[in-house]
Amino acid sequence: MKTNFLLIILIWSFIHLSAITAPILIAQTSLSVLPQNAGDRQNHSVISFNLHFLENFIFLGNVDIYPGYLPSPVQNNLQDEYSIEVLSQSGNILYRQNFRNPQIAFYDNYDSEHQIMDGGFVQKDYGIINFKIPWLETASRIAVYSPESEKIYEILMSDLVRKDQPMNSEQQVRTETLIYNGDPDNRIDLLFMGDGYILEDSTLFRNDVIEFVNHLFATSPYNEYYNFFNVHLVYVVSQERGADHPELQPPVYRNTALDASYNCNNIPRLICANEDTIYDIAQATFPYYDEISVLINDPVYGGSGGSISMSYNGGWGKWVFNHELGHSFGILLDEYLYGNQPGTVYGCNCDVNSGQPKWQPWITIGSPGVGAFAGCSWTNYYRPTNNQCTMNTLQNTFCVVCGEQLAKSININVLLYEYYFPVSNPTVQLGDSQLFYIEPLQPMNHEVRTHWYINDIKQSGAASDSFYYAPLNTGNYRLMAVIFDSTSLVINDPDYLMLDAVEWQITVVPSTEIIDAESGYNSGSLALYPNYPNPFNPMTVISWQLAVGNLVKLSIYDLSGREIVVLVNEEQSAGLHQVEFDASRLASGVYCYRLSVGSLS
Ligand SMILES: [Zn+2]
Repeated sequence: MKTNFLLIILIWSFIHLSAITAPILIAQTSLSVLPQNAGDRQNHSVISFNLHFLENFIFLGNVDIYPGYLPSPVQNNLQDEYSIEVLSQSGNILYRQNFRNPQIAFYDNYDSEHQIMDGGFVQKDYGIINFKIPWLETASRIAVYSPESEKIYEILMSDLVRKDQPMNSEQQVRTETLIYNGDPDNRIDLLFMGDGYILEDSTLFRNDVIEFVNHLFATSPYNEYYNFFNVHLVYVVSQERGADHPELQPPVYRNTALDASYNCNNIPRLICANEDTIYDIAQATFPYYDEISVLINDPVYGGSGGSISMSYNGGWGKWVFNHELGHSFGILLDEYLYGNQPGTVYGCNCDVNSGQPKWQPWITIGSPGVGAFAGCSWTNYYRPTNNQCTMNTLQNTFCVVCGEQLAKSININVLLYEYYFPVSNPTVQLGDSQLFYIEPLQPMNHEVRTHWYINDIKQSGAASDSFYYAPLNTGNYRLMAVIFDSTSLVINDPDYLMLDAVEWQITVVPSTEIIDAESGYNSGSLALYPNYPNPFNPMTVISWQLAVGNLVKLSIYDLSGREIVVLVNEEQSAGLHQVEFDASRLASGVYCYRLSVGSLS
């Protein structure tokens, strides 16, 4: 196929003294300069921290910042090794060191009897590695890369510095990730802490969490969205078992790490604890937590569902936990009565209007048992079912209205896709096609689907996860992938909480033939010569020869396809032509030029 566009690569190299201060050049060429003189050492600090490697999951522990100077050089990347990099805001590598997989332990055996040297390695479930890195003024973040150069962990320096808060000796903690379903950035990270568990109770605490978590994920809608969650536990050592009981005569006070107490605000069975301590420990252990639950090691029935949900660990504990998490995570109200005092109702499961309650769509479709039943936290409010909800009576189900709200709460906290491709706005040539891809985050027992729209027109026949776009015309197009969760748990979603969208701007350009910059092009009717010199600074000459007179257009483009300058746009006679291109006002880099000749096509 003949084309009337020809493209040649120009390399505009711009190297003189002032370029050393140009950030773009430093980003490409310089690794790092550590402070060299004694004055820098005065203000220098070392940051020490542990990274815990657990299967595919990495988390941080024991951050310590102390004065000192660590003159380690930047190491080159080595094959088969992990690396940790300290990066500046703009991505410069300020410091790098390599390390082996801490989950693989190497060993040597020397058998003196048989004079055999032997060695090997074992794979461990869990590994900890201590890093010491220099404090650098310009450091922005720390990233860890796998041997395949895949980024597997990242933390901001500001977050790291914030974690340099020593815990007091009573707050010894041990952490564990119990369930890991994916990147904490796109999971609901549920963090369990215990109070009133003494040093010998670590197994008890762990077993309590497992029992509660198993029960939670056996309950709808949590079971449908099990893989949207990670579960972590922080075992906090208390000096005594139980919690405070100021309601007893005489009152009982226990020395516990989180200072939990019954009879909070003089309300029987209501438990509260020191939330500042809880948040500090959460920040120091799993700073990306989304929801915190505290288990109280006390046989007396009780709980609370404020910003942190709390439950005792006795016989009804796991049902109390589901109920309290309904408050804390789903912003659900109690569907039983406190008393006769009317109050302000904000929850989705209570309404003063019994004729047209907030959950009217469920009544309209005839969902069994749904109506408007007198009493929902307050006497003048109504609840959706008489008794089909654990917000009313402890049981294994939520009513459909509460279940719908919980499904929305889950979806608010995650994106319905894991990643997408391409990661930036593409330029597509006529005649080519471009693949677009969405990796959905799939729930357990129903499907998340993707629909594709070009300039808001739905593309029928497109597969769910991928879309090939083969443009018919040049121009700019907007492609939108709408990923939506069509679960039957949700029938009313006026705020579009159950969908997420990814958008691309596509630039479609004419097809071109790319010419080797050194060999040029000669078709008989047109010869295009390599620009000279190349690389150049800042002038180069572009020449071509026409066999017959024609309309000629010559333009310079940057690598993103943007036209920078039109050098020629005129009718030219047969023969040799040339034009000078002066790039002194452009950034150094690689450019293309495109020659278009009227009657070639
Ligand atoms: Zn309910």
